[in-house]
Amino acid sequence: MLAEKKKRHAELSKLLSNYSRQYYIFDDPSVSDAEYDALYQELLSIESEYPQLATKSSPSQKVGAKISKDFRKITHKQKMLSLENAFNEEDIQNFVDRVKKLTGRSKIEFMLEPKLDGLSASIKYHNGIMVQASTRGDGSIGEDVTENMKTLHNVPKKIDFPENVEVRGEVVMLKKDFEQLNEQRQREGEKLFSNPRNAAAGSLRQLDFRITAQRKLTFFAYSLVGKNLNLISQQEIFQTLRNLGFTVSDKIKLCHSQEEAFEFYKIMEQQRSDLDYDIDGVVYKTNDLSLQKQMGNATKYPRHSIAYKFPAQKAQTTILDIVVQVGRTGNITPVAELAPVNIGGVIVSRATLHNRDEIEKKDIRIGDRVVVQRAGDVIPQILHPIIEHRPKESKPFEFPTVCPCCGSQLVREEEEVAIKCENLDCSAQLVERLIHFVSRQAFNIEGLGEQNIKFLFNKGIIRSPVDIFYLQEKNQQYHLENEEGWGKQSVENLFRSIETAKNIGLEKFINALGIPQIGRAASILIARFYKTFSNFWNAVEQDKLSELITINGIGDLMIQDLRNFFKVSNNLEVMRRLSAVVNILDTQGSTESEWTGKSIVFTGTLNTLSRDEAKEIVEKLGGKASSSVSSKTYLVVAGENAGSKLEKARNLGVKVVSEQEFLDMIPSK
Ligand code: NAD
Repeated sequence: MLAEKKKRHAELSKLLSNYSRQYYIFDDPSVSDAEYDALYQELLSIESEYPQLATKSSPSQKVGAKISKDFRKITHKQKMLSLENAFNEEDIQNFVDRVKKLTGRSKIEFMLEPKLDGLSASIKYHNGIMVQASTRGDGSIGEDVTENMKTLHNVPKKIDFPENVEVRGEVVMLKKDFEQLNEQRQREGEKLFSNPRNAAAGSLRQLDFRITAQRKLTFFAYSLVGKNLNLISQQEIFQTLRNLGFTVSDKIKLCHSQEEAFEFYKIMEQQRSDLDYDIDGVVYKTNDLSLQKQMGNATKYPRHSIAYKFPAQKAQTTILDIVVQVGRTGNITPVAELAPVNIGGVIVSRATLHNRDEIEKKDIRIGDRVVVQRAGDVIPQILHPIIEHRPKESKPFEFPTVCPCCGSQLVREEEEVAIKCENLDCSAQLVERLIHFVSRQAFNIEGLGEQNIKFLFNKGIIRSPVDIFYLQEKNQQYHLENEEGWGKQSVENLFRSIETAKNIGLEKFINALGIPQIGRAASILIARFYKTFSNFWNAVEQDKLSELITINGIGDLMIQDLRNFFKVSNNLEVMRRLSAVVNILDTQGSTESEWTGKSIVFTGTLNTLSRDEAKEIVEKLGGKASSSVSSKTYLVVAGENAGSKLEKARNLGVKVVSEQEFLDMIPSK
C-alpha cells in the first residue's frame, strides 16, 4: 500500500511542480485552478496518511515556484507566505477552533477581506521614499520588479512615514483593462491571456518595464511590515494604508461572530461578478496583531489567517473513459470517468452522461476536454466538450448494443430515452438490487457494502435478498472467516448487524424492495398510509394498491409500477419469505398536513434522507423546500454540522427540528 501511495505521491509532486512552473514562471497555466487544487488536495490526503512523504521537496512545503533566472533576486527579511485554503463552513469552524486553542481566547475578532486574484508583491519605503519592489517568488526570495512597479498609476512613490516600512498587497488587472488588453492582443495576433490573474502576473513580470507601463495594473495594499509600527490590529493597518494614499479594498469587514462572517462570505460570493476585479474567496485574518504574532507560522502559511475559497461550480477536465452501468431496474447509464477535478470543494472524477441521446446530442467523446458543472448535491454533469482541444484521432462514441454484463441485446422502448437490459437474471441487476437492499435507507446492514455483496454474489453464497438472513447457517459450509480480507471478528460483526437489521420499519422495508419509482419518499408515504405490514400485504394480495392514489404525491404511474412488481410471482415469494424471517415494525405518524404553502429549509448533513429526497417529501406534501432562512420560514430541519442557517433560524425564532423529528412529522394523508 505504501509503495503504491509513494508512487502516486511522486507522480503528483512532479505534475504539481510542472504546473506551478507554468503558472508562476511563465504566467501561462496548463490546467485550470480547480484541477490544480484537486491534485493538491489528493497530495495532502496522502501526506496526512503517510507524513513521512511530506519532505522538504514536496509541493505541500513550498510557496510558489523557484524564481525566474532573468530577474535580480531580492531576499525577504520576513517571508511572504501563502494562505491555507478552506472550502466549506466546517473547514472554517476547524480554523476558528484552532485559533481559539492557540490563543487561549474564547472570542476572536476576524477581519474579512476579499481574496484578490492577482499576484502578491512587496514595496519597500526608506524614509518615505519607494526604494524597492519584488514579487513573492518562492516566499524567501522574490524577483526584483522595482522599475515595473513604479509604472503603476496608484503606487505612491513617496509616503509620509518616517520609519522604514514594507507595504504588501496584490497587483491585479481590473476586468475592463483585461478585456481591452485581450482585444488589442487579438487585433495584433498575439496569444491571449487566459484570465486577469495571469495577465497581471505576465504584465508585471516583464524584463522591460516599458511594457509593464503600457499595461493597466492596479495595486491593492493589505499589509504593513516593519519595526516600531505601533499598530495593534489589521483594522488599523487598513486605516494607515488608506491615510498614506494606498488603494485598499472597500469590501472589508470586521466580524465579531461566525454568523456575521458567513453572511459576509455569501454577500461577497453574490457580488463577485459585479466587482471591478476578480476575487476567488474571502480571507479571514485574526484582527489582533499581538495574537497573530503569538500564533506564528506553519511552513507554508501563517496560522492566523485562512482563505475561504468560493466554490468553482464549473471546471474543465478530460474524459478518460466512458463506461456504461447497469442499474437495478436494468437501465443502462453511460458514465464519464474524468481526470479528477475540484469543483466547489468536491473532487469530481465521474459524471453522468444520462443516456445515449445526450452523448449524441452533445457529441461527447473519450479523450475530449470538457466543461463539468456541479450544483448543490446533484450528480456532476458535462456541459459540453471544448472542440478546439479535441484530439485529431478522436472518434464519436459507439454506444454498446449488448449488455456489458450478461451480453443480452439491449432494447429501447418506443418513446423512451432509456436503453434497457431486460434480462431479469442479469447478474449486474441482481447485484445492484442487493446493494440497494442492504443500503442505509433500506436494511442498513453494516459490514455488507458493495464489495462484500459482489464477493458473496460471485461465490454463489447470496443470490436473493432472503439468502442474507441465512448467511450464518450457510457459513458452516463456506467459512467466510478463512477468506482473505474477512477474519473471524468481521464475520461475527456482520452476523450481528444482520441480526439487528431484522427489526425494520415498514417504510424502509418497502424501500428495500427496489420497486421502480418507489424510492425513499414514496415508501414513507405508503408506509404512513398502511401503517402495518399486514395492511400493506392485504392490499397487495387483494390488488387494492390503486387506493394509494388518494395520497398527495403518489401518481398513476407509480401505482402501475407497484402493481407490475407484485405481478411477478418471484417478487411475491421473496416478500413472503422475507416477512417470515424479519420483524417489520408498524409506522407511526400524525395525520394532519400542516405544510401546504409553507417554506421549509434543510441545513447540515442528513443521515437517512438525501437532500433531494427530503425536498421531494416536502414538495409532495404541498410545501416549498427553500434554501435560505428568513422570518417567513416555517421550519428548519437541522442535520449534523448545521452552520449559519441554523444560527440564523435561532436568532429569528424559527422552529428548528432534527431529521428524526421531521420524519415523525410526515403526515400519512
Ligand atoms: P493562494 O493564491 O491560494 O493564496 C495566497 C495568496 O493570496 C497570497 O500570497 C496573496 O497573494 C493572495 N491574497 C489575495 N488577497 C489577499 C488578502 N486580502 N490578504 C492576504 N493575501 C491575499 O495561494 P498561492 O500559493 O499563491 O497559490 C495557490 C493557488 O494558485 C492554488 O490554489 C491554485 O488555485 C493556483 N495555482 C494554479 C496553478 C495552475 O496550473 N492552474 C498552478 C499553481 C497554483
